Amino acid sequence: MPLAMHVPALYLPHDKLLSCGLQFSDTLHYQLTSEELVQQTLDRGEGVLNDTGALVISTGEFTGRSPKDKFIVKDEITSDAVDWNDFNQPIEERYFHIILNRITSYLNHQPELWVRDCYACADRRYRLPLRVFTETPALNLFAYNMFLRPTQLELENFNPGWQILSAPGLKLNALECGIRQHNAVVVSFSHKMILIAGTGYTGEMKKSIFGILNFILPHDKNVLSMHCSANVGASGDTAIFFGLSGTGKTTLSTDPNRKLIGDDEHGWASDRVFNFEGGCYAKCINLNEQKEPEIYQAVRKGALVENVRFFPGSNRINFDNGSVTENTRVSYPLDYIANAVEPSIGNAPQNIFFLACDAYGVLPPVSKLTPGQAMYQFISGYTAKIAGTETGIKDPKLTFSACFGAPFLPLHPRTYAAMLGQKIRDNKVKVWLVNTGWTGGPYLVGSRIKLSYTRAMVNSALNGALDNIEYKNHPIFGMAMPVSCPGVPSEILNPINAWSDKEAYTEQAKCLARKFIENFKRYESGISPEILAAAPIF
Ligand code: ATP
Ligand code: MN
Repeated sequence: MPLAMHVPALYLPHDKLLSCGLQFSDTLHYQLTSEELVQQTLDRGEGVLNDTGALVISTGEFTGRSPKDKFIVKDEITSDAVDWNDFNQPIEERYFHIILNRITSYLNHQPELWVRDCYACADRRYRLPLRVFTETPALNLFAYNMFLRPTQLELENFNPGWQILSAPGLKLNALECGIRQHNAVVVSFSHKMILIAGTGYTGEMKKSIFGILNFILPHDKNVLSMHCSANVGASGDTAIFFGLSGTGKTTLSTDPNRKLIGDDEHGWASDRVFNFEGGCYAKCINLNEQKEPEIYQAVRKGALVENVRFFPGSNRINFDNGSVTENTRVSYPLDYIANAVEPSIGNAPQNIFFLACDAYGVLPPVSKLTPGQAMYQFISGYTAKIAGTETGIKDPKLTFSACFGAPFLPLHPRTYAAMLGQKIRDNKVKVWLVNTGWTGGPYLVGSRIKLSYTRAMVNSALNGALDNIEYKNHPIFGMAMPVSCPGVPSEILNPINAWSDKEAYTEQAKCLARKFIENFKRYESGISPEILAAAPIF
């Protein structure tokens, strides 16, 4: 079969390409299968297969997102609506045109180009048709794995709403392009285009679509967009898990006893929750067949694995090796998880989990929040980032990220918080705070809470085992801590009991409480007394 597929004009009219300055080339690969994209990547020497048949690639200079190089064109749509801040950096329209020009002429000079039509949003009412142009077959495979895959019939009538142009090999001139350095992600709401240059990190593509949906859905459609995973139990009870990177959204939503809706990005319309994506993007670091069997088994033919190392002399992945990056990843279509829901839609949630990886060992491993406390935690968005082992041992980095997703939220946090607060009240949702981080002391002194314990706590919250039992309020943070939980040693449920030095615990807790209070100051104006009353007290 020839590599260059001739594209029927019906599927990809010339004017659609020309509208973004691209030419119609003989070697334009449209809508290739996963197998074809894998084979081309191998033929080009841009990847290798591991021993289970997954495609392993290196993403080059960037192995993670680069938030400082992300820009939104400031125009009549965004100017007053976007909350301009460190994550939402404005760029002038004229620079957008310069960068678009650079990318299209760069892509036009490539001998080959890959094009894929796909969707975001499993709920048809909000479906966003996307056309993705990539410089490499591997990036196109990422789009295939992560976005929703149209049927043949849908392709015949496909009309892209947004276009993504991805040119990782193009180094831009920062001065000429009005950007910080040689790479950039630039979003234009007027042109409905996302330009990605100078970075081959696949996650930029998925998170830039997330970013535009975080604008469009709440702003235009009255749908709450959320940085959360979601799954559903046998009785149709949906649970969602908010959390910043590394807190356990993907790990905890992938549960053999519950059906997976999605692992990262969802919308909450009045009556239902729906996934934005068609795949999962799981961390690979320390991936272990016993602890996370579903994800481990998803590393197979068609999965795309990034920046891992093999055991010497083999093509067996050493998941414990973080020498390229701690952020090793695998993307795979949702149906690689046996019990995924299709289409990925669930009822409005009955339980919400806020996941925080607390490296100070202060927060209880599981606790129940009042609606006021829930909103306080949501607006705060607390977690701690642990430094990667390759750079030596460093102090954990305390992070507050509003709505558990500040880097992806174009609107002011109050918009998302107000919508969530209303939904929690209307649906009488139970809200839990789960510390997936440290117990018994801070990082290096205590230890990370066992995944099996966290799973037991989540399951107990979901199956009602935590409903009619005794609770104690945390003396500083106020949340209600269960006194017992099936499958979990009781002494870890109240965090002070797990510390040998009780005074040290109280000091550490006060220190964290001060950080919460300091961070919350910027949100205080216009906040209801109920939420303000949920601040830590000492
Ligand atoms: P991202 O937004 O970057 O995708 P995420 O919230 O999906 O992040 P996960 O990919 O689920 O985060 O990462 C959680 C990591 O922490 C996994 O590698 C998991 O094995 C590990 N882990 C260790 N202990 C726990 C625990 N008690 N609870 C949850 N995860 C844990
Ligand atoms: Mn995840």
